[in-house]
Amino acid sequence: MKQLFYTSTRDNKKRVLAHEAIIKGIADDGGLYVPTSIPQIEKSIEELASFSYQELAKYILGLYLTDYTKEEIADCVDSAYDSKFDDDRIAPVVKVDGTYVLELFHGKTIAFKDMALSILPHLMRHAKRKSEQKSDVVILTATSGDTGKAALEGFKDVPGFKIIVFYPKNGVSEIQERQMLTTTGDNTYVVGINGNFDDAQTSVKKIFSDQQLANRLKENDLVFSSANSINIGRLLPQIIYYVYSYLQVWKDKQVDSIDVVVPTGNFGNILAGYYAKLMGINIRRLISASNKNQILYDFLTTGEYDANRNLHLTTSPSMDILISSNLERLLFELNNNDSSIVANLMNELNENRKYKSVGSLEAAKESFGAGYASEAEVLETIKDVFDNKGYLLDPHTAVAYKVYEKVKKDDTATVVVSTASPYKFTRPVMEAVSGKSSLSDFVLLNNLCELSKVAIPAAVDGIDQLPVLHDTVVDKEDIGKIVEEILEL
Ligand SMILES: *Cc1c(COP(=O)(O)O)cnc(C)c1O
Repeated sequence: MKQLFYTSTRDNKKRVLAHEAIIKGIADDGGLYVPTSIPQIEKSIEELASFSYQELAKYILGLYLTDYTKEEIADCVDSAYDSKFDDDRIAPVVKVDGTYVLELFHGKTIAFKDMALSILPHLMRHAKRKSEQKSDVVILTATSGDTGKAALEGFKDVPGFKIIVFYPKNGVSEIQERQMLTTTGDNTYVVGINGNFDDAQTSVKKIFSDQQLANRLKENDLVFSSANSINIGRLLPQIIYYVYSYLQVWKDKQVDSIDVVVPTGNFGNILAGYYAKLMGINIRRLISASNKNQILYDFLTTGEYDANRNLHLTTSPSMDILISSNLERLLFELNNNDSSIVANLMNELNENRKYKSVGSLEAAKESFGAGYASEAEVLETIKDVFDNKGYLLDPHTAVAYKVYEKVKKDDTATVVVSTASPYKFTRPVMEAVSGKSSLSDFVLLNNLCELSKVAIPAAVDGIDQLPVLHDTVVDKEDIGKIVEEILEL
């Protein structure tokens, strides 16, 4: 089989194989790894529609991981998508009043990050062996709330790996925080940052390019990698469920094309949907749904990306982001793989926190739509959909649902991507549906259960009784120092 190579968004002359891109996480020039071409789906819809999630995963990943053997891919898929998921379909598509909702929260930490982070440690384990990387790998991860726990669970006690997670101390839900702080395992570290997600993400990216630290690391026989969606190993597994959901809709209605609405933050999820479209899946429009932090809406309607604004903390904290890393990969695709254009735009972003790209906007308009929802709209939507349609949305999914209502043009079958269980965000959900609030998100778990008649997921049931095992909090300037301390450099 012909090898598929990966290159850097900032230097398209580079060529690496998938396992090298996955083990490195980010290119040396600061760019993100992207496939040099997008493989095409060559099987018929009928055949694909007969596949289980796992069979589809093996087929799709096989097209991208040409340097992995069939057996290696099967091992990764079968180790990831198993009984850790509380639904055999892995990513069930349910119908809510004529609209399709793709539920991506049936994994171990009840948010969509499990879809990729259940498999990434296995992809990395094989990558480490294939690249004869003998050093231990230190996974550095910034989280806006959900990546952290999913990555901790994925890498916990995996031999040859350590994981350090940074989260904004006051920027995640009480339940998200407790999920992280109660993580067991000898190789897991969780650090709170006095700052927001952008501070955490920017500091982590800086550590990757810190040459001095890299040398000390080498002396200590360690290397860094990333479990954030800057790692292409996070994005590829996300393509699977876009293909899968298209097939479920096709089985229901034999429609030709669909629209998809995605609650968006770092642009990783929706970008995987774009790759699915480029592979030949008939997605007409990908609609990027933002919360009150509507920077992506502004970009997708004006071509100007301007991060000189305040970050608002909202009830959908996993989308409280101003610097969306994966937009860089979209710019690369929209500009026909011209890395000099991307490098220039990213330089501008670094220097002025903004850039404008009218050419990219014109190209984006063919495939993307955009909208945003205010905080009041999010709460109204949760209440409306629960009262009138009997379905409980988490705040992130409610953003997407509201945006769908706003931008809907016709009766094209639409998939609303649901990225978290309402049980992860009990406070806004209970406030929305019953006006009830409480001193503690944990008390609200029981209230929500009584109201929705949906059992409390194992991921959060009794979580307030578990011992807190991590308590480090630092200023963002001290991230480097704490990494040295943890790794005893
Ligand atoms: C991470 C996350 C998002 C945003 O996804 P991106 O890939 O960063 O755009 C949305 N909703 C939830 C619940 C998340 O955890």
